[in-house]
Amino acid sequence: MIHLPAMAGENHPQRQFLGVYFVRCLVYGRLYKNAEGTAYEGNCPRCGAHFHIRIGEGGTADRFFKAYCPPPKR
Ligand SMILES: [Zn+2]
Repeated sequence: MIHLPAMAGENHPQRQFLGVYFVRCLVYGRLYKNAEGTAYEGNCPRCGAHFHIRIGEGGTADRFFKAYCPPPKR
């Protein structure tokens, strides 16, 4: 049985995101701008670490970001 996941979020082209490379997990992901437009937020798709990147005054021209996940808890 083939199950196609709903493309949640893909219906909101105006929602800005920041491309992120999670260095320690070797995976790419996205952080989405929050409702207030003050920060990009999201989780590492592999380990689930939460990231909250504040958008500075005047905004940042960077459209790509490297994130370092904390070591996994055991
Ligand atoms: Zn991670």
